[in-house]
Amino acid sequence: MEIEIDSNSGFCFGVVTAINKAEEELSKEGNLFCLGDIVHNSMEVERLSRKGLVSIDHERFFSLRNEKVLLRAHGEPPSTYEMARKNGIEIIDATCPVVLNLQKNIKKAYLNSDPSETQIVIYGKIGHAEVNGLVGQTDGRAIVIENLNDLNKIDFTKKVKLFSQTTKSIENFNQIVAKIKEKITNCKNFEFNDTICRQVANRIPKIINFVSKHELVFFVSGKKSSNGKVLFDECRKINSNIHLISDLEELDLSLLDGVNTVGICGATSTPKWLMEELKSKIERYLENK
Ligand code: SF4
Repeated sequence: MEIEIDSNSGFCFGVVTAINKAEEELSKEGNLFCLGDIVHNSMEVERLSRKGLVSIDHERFFSLRNEKVLLRAHGEPPSTYEMARKNGIEIIDATCPVVLNLQKNIKKAYLNSDPSETQIVIYGKIGHAEVNGLVGQTDGRAIVIENLNDLNKIDFTKKVKLFSQTTKSIENFNQIVAKIKEKITNCKNFEFNDTICRQVANRIPKIINFVSKHELVFFVSGKKSSNGKVLFDECRKINSNIHLISDLEELDLSLLDGVNTVGICGATSTPKWLMEELKSKIERYLENK
């Protein structure tokens, strides 16, 4: 049986940088707080927690004094930085430069317009850490839309400036743009910014090609990963014999019966070592069969 790991799957540069920063700090200090899970992959979070990285929520963050806290690639709203300043928290900022740039552009769009005339709209997942950081750039005023049904939150007689969470699908973003164009009273009042990260979007043709080559595919990804969901959905359109694995314990070995080629791929938050462990597990099973 041929088992192939997709060479294009695995951490994007934003996640690599955040993990490198955490490991560098852990090698000096032995332990470090991280606001939220450093990556949407519980196996990688566990690996780093064994090295001393402690994930905390915002409530715990607010109660800390004079500690060091890492901010992950998703970014944070300005209120997090203010709180850190007040409480003597040293921030190790691992916000991805792509997210940082998007935060700056949303802030600029917000500050350069009159909120009574212009609506800042973000296509993204309500409550997602990155989206919370983006909404924070607008004093909490931005309208978040998750899908076409949410367009009724927008007043189409006013100006609209649309942005996107970095990990959303380009296809869905384009559908939203088309619908807003249809509904807006004056098309001059609509400005849209495709702010989708190409680290995710550019992987789609490559991963589609990869899954089309294999009879059976295991897609390794955390269940909370947004880009994992986008990539998995695209793969499933091409190969219906694809299975999501977030923990090696979930592997159903009976799926291998009668199969000649197996592909292993994953999201931008999937560690390479986890895909390699999955491959080894399959190989051990086949050897002992
Ligand atoms: S997917 Fe893109 S925006 Fe998100 S962390 Fe990776 S490089 Fe940064």
